[in-house]
Amino acid sequence: MIAIYPGTFDPATYGHIDIIMRASKVVDKLIVAVLNNSAKQPMFTVDERLQMLNETCGDISNIEITAFSGLLIEFAKHSGANAIIRGLRAVSDFEYEFQMALTNKILNEEVETLFISTSARYAYLSSSIVKEVAALGGCVESMVPAVIGDRLLQKIGK
Ligand code: ADP
Repeated sequence: MIAIYPGTFDPATYGHIDIIMRASKVVDKLIVAVLNNSAKQPMFTVDERLQMLNETCGDISNIEITAFSGLLIEFAKHSGANAIIRGLRAVSDFEYEFQMALTNKILNEEVETLFISTSARYAYLSSSIVKEVAALGGCVESMVPAVIGDRLLQKIGK
């Protein structure tokens, strides 16, 4: 099975990395796909987000880290992927994720969306929480790898 794990990854957290490691064990190939979406006004450029993912997950043998824009389902077709992986943290993630999964199913019924539940210790973790804590001068050591923590501090000028 070739699966795509799409996201904004602005920046990748231990929650994302955990999903990447677990998903890579159950699929033949995992394509980690950074969404190039200007509407979201990300803190990091696509290149920076790709670099951070490469620095932290690049040595997993069956993953490819890349960027995409436009319709995910088109990107899936183009990449030969037959599954989309998404992480679920709380019930609050469910409604949106279910809606996206059903929409993607209508667009291409050959591609399945598979959900992996968060590890309990990362259930609270999101990229926006990490950015908020870092901006307020808090320690993000337990939330992101050091290379990402350093880049966050650089970005916010601390
Ligand atoms: P998006 O903007 O597509 O939601 P994110 O980078 O915020 O992009 O998240 C990508 C995926 O990773 C989503 O499926 C999200 O639910 C999942 N995810 C984010 N944080 C965690 C976490 N702490 N544990 C498990 N899954 C997570």
